[in-house]
Amino acid sequence: MIYHELGKTGITVSKLCFGSLTMGPFQRDLTPAQGAALFERAFDLGVNFVDTAEIYGTYPHVREAIRLKPDLIVCSKSYAYDREGAERSLIKALSGIGRDYIDVFLMHEQESIHTIRGHREALEYYIEMMRKGYIRAVGLSTHYIACMDGALTHPELQVLFPLINKRGIGIADGTSDEMLERIRLAHAQGRGIIAMKPLGGGHLISEREEALDYILNLDDCVDTIAIGMQSISEVEYNCARFSGETPDPAVAEELSRKKRRLLIQEWCQGCGACVAACHNHALHIENGRAVVDPDKCALCTYCARACPQFTIKVI
Ligand code: SF4
Ligand code: SF4
Repeated sequence: MIYHELGKTGITVSKLCFGSLTMGPFQRDLTPAQGAALFERAFDLGVNFVDTAEIYGTYPHVREAIRLKPDLIVCSKSYAYDREGAERSLIKALSGIGRDYIDVFLMHEQESIHTIRGHREALEYYIEMMRKGYIRAVGLSTHYIACMDGALTHPELQVLFPLINKRGIGIADGTSDEMLERIRLAHAQGRGIIAMKPLGGGHLISEREEALDYILNLDDCVDTIAIGMQSISEVEYNCARFSGETPDPAVAEELSRKKRRLLIQEWCQGCGACVAACHNHALHIENGRAVVDPDKCALCTYCARACPQFTIKVI
């Protein structure tokens, strides 16, 4: 496994970051013990970094991971915008993962300089908590090039977690080349870069080799790459790939056949909350029910979290 310092944070992370969204309730819905079995194999193969978020519902899984590996590097994210909300989120994260500090704490899903400004109180609280030792580095996650432009003017954001993949699937306002230009600028300023959705939320699974080649070749500006994993074979494949080894071709073939999709279950009531939550304009209401356009859907599950009926899942 290859390791990098995450920008200038002093935090050393494995090139492969284990994304825990895919094991949570909106996707595979693994128990914490089932999740721990996957984490354990990844740790054996050199992974030292796990990504979660308040909304993913995977703090119990990460708690198990820390029990297996007490020095695990953990990143989490919150939508909080004011001081009170930020304090609640940080307390929830620390009690959820069972530790008195978290390595990286991010403002989740920022869109532009305006949303960064709108979250100023939360950011100031995180920076204060960083000085007190509860957080090691702060930053944001984003699907937006406009947000990266905003982040470039905020040097206090030490870690940026942008969406980038070979075809730019899921980037809300431009191309992969445009996103890459901002990533390179940010990295040159000393920011840590965690790449999100290198497989386009599942759309690039049939081109997995090329998609991974693309992201792994950005070694000059991407410190670590978050990938959600749901099986031991996926863990072993990715760990081999990220260590410069050749994975078992039979496993590569098996994984390339596994297509994921968004499932909208029959009890949908057509309220439209999911449509409003989808930045990719992949949902609309038809005959009183939500319908997804699979070509536009990045399988990010933001719609699932917005659904009051718990109707949406990625399967
Ligand atoms: S939010 Fe849920 S219930 Fe409402 S339209 Fe979307 S899937 Fe249906
Ligand atoms: S439909 Fe849902 S999962 Fe797909 S891109 Fe929109 S918010 Fe994300």
